[in-house]
Amino acid sequence: MTEHIIELIYLVASALFILALKWMNTPATARRGILAGEIGMVLAIGGTLLQHGIVDYKWIAIALVIGSGIGVPLGLVQMTAVPQRTALSHAFGAFCVTLVGTAEFYLRTPNVQPFMMSVLCVEVILGGLTVTGSLMAAGKLQEVLPQRPITYKGQNFVNLALLASTAVIAIYLVRNPGATHLYPVMVGIALIVGVMLVIPIGGADMPTVISLLNSYAGLSAAAMGFVLNNKLLIVAGALDGSSGFILSVIMSKAMNRSFANVVFGAFGQVAAAAAGAQEARPVKSASPEEAAGILAAASKVVIVPGYGMAVAQAQHKVRELYDALTKRGIDVRFAIHPVAGRMPGHMNVLLAEADVPYDRLMEMDDINGDFPQTDVSLIIGANDVTNPAAKTDQSSPIYGMPVLDVEKSHTVMVIKRSMNPGFAGIDNPLYYMDQTLMLFGDAKVFVSNIVKELSNTHG
Ligand code: NAP
Repeated sequence: MTEHIIELIYLVASALFILALKWMNTPATARRGILAGEIGMVLAIGGTLLQHGIVDYKWIAIALVIGSGIGVPLGLVQMTAVPQRTALSHAFGAFCVTLVGTAEFYLRTPNVQPFMMSVLCVEVILGGLTVTGSLMAAGKLQEVLPQRPITYKGQNFVNLALLASTAVIAIYLVRNPGATHLYPVMVGIALIVGVMLVIPIGGADMPTVISLLNSYAGLSAAAMGFVLNNKLLIVAGALDGSSGFILSVIMSKAMNRSFANVVFGAFGQVAAAAAGAQEARPVKSASPEEAAGILAAASKVVIVPGYGMAVAQAQHKVRELYDALTKRGIDVRFAIHPVAGRMPGHMNVLLAEADVPYDRLMEMDDINGDFPQTDVSLIIGANDVTNPAAKTDQSSPIYGMPVLDVEKSHTVMVIKRSMNPGFAGIDNPLYYMDQTLMLFGDAKVFVSNIVKELSNTHG
């Protein structure tokens, strides 16, 4: 009887996980998606706790308290720290998978069927490399580890050789599951592979790598589902694995990079070098009052948010600006670049938080054709995603990355604090163009001053 109830609970949880992924696809249903995922997870845990196999709840209760103690503060981090927080979650998930796999190996050895041993090896190899890879990624993003790629000659060969050696040991273990002395060697090498795979990858590629690690964590959890004969784990792991992979592909595409280039390309090194070679060139700047005047005289405005808006937490002021301009009958839309900010959907989340209507948010491909008819493009803390060098300068590290064609609008205004480069570490020729005005200052303060000017002088 209990078995049937558990199966039913798992079925509902699986459906909720699938719905969660679907609903998280668009800002309009994203909150519902999160709720569905949360309910699904509570059901999954509840269903698992009903299992007959559990003889003592004491350790589970202790783990629950420790897990919540770590999870609650992690859930409260600043939005800008979410990528490294996500990396830590993957590390924890993968650590758990590796520990469970290890426990199962020692409980079952030497009587492990070849299929079971194969999935167990996949589980702990992927799990092990995800633990250390994710910790490295989190460290790089939090800047406790150096962000720049660390490379040496023959690096890819060494990494592939290490990975191949885990595969060889795994095959041996499948044939000789009693060879317990080889098991720690295999897990140890997997842990080293995680570190080695991430050190040559620059900070700029870290979010892509994190979603790739997400995918590995999901696959290892699915393998664990086979080992434990738990269908829900197989479903949830497969969903996690495939969605992480799809996200990595979307992000690579948005940066015009191949997967191989992200994983083996040591991106970020060139960028750092280019940043040092900047020369001082004249730019035109304007005051909040002048900016307000230009905006008030426009009929079509496109706002381009970027990482700086997130840092300044300017989204609510941006919403006020949107209201002030719309009230005057000005058509205001937002151009959302797929990798603006530091994580996928970063801008959508912030603007949704400030209740900017979803139908005003335009994807890059949908708005790029409209820039020639745009009076003012107002860039708020975005840099790389507007850099025309990506289209024209073959030597640029971001050459080929699709960017927003803001330079085609009649006037471009850029809010940022200085002439410092963005994430890719390179200069932006947009700032020196005739139609560009630099609005130097913190995004929140500057936008707020423009709103004040609009209501005082131009209202
Ligand atoms: P960006 O190129 O990093 O530029 C952000 C700009 O914001 C900086 O130039 C900075 O200039 C300005 N800024 C910082 N704090 C500010 C503040 N308080 N007020 C005003 N301005 C401020 O950002 P982006 O255009 O959004 O591009 C995102 C970058 O991240 C791309 O290179 C992308 O490839 C990379 N990336 C993103 C993802 C993702 O998932 N979204 C993933 C991987 C990589 P000042 O210092 O002069 O103020």
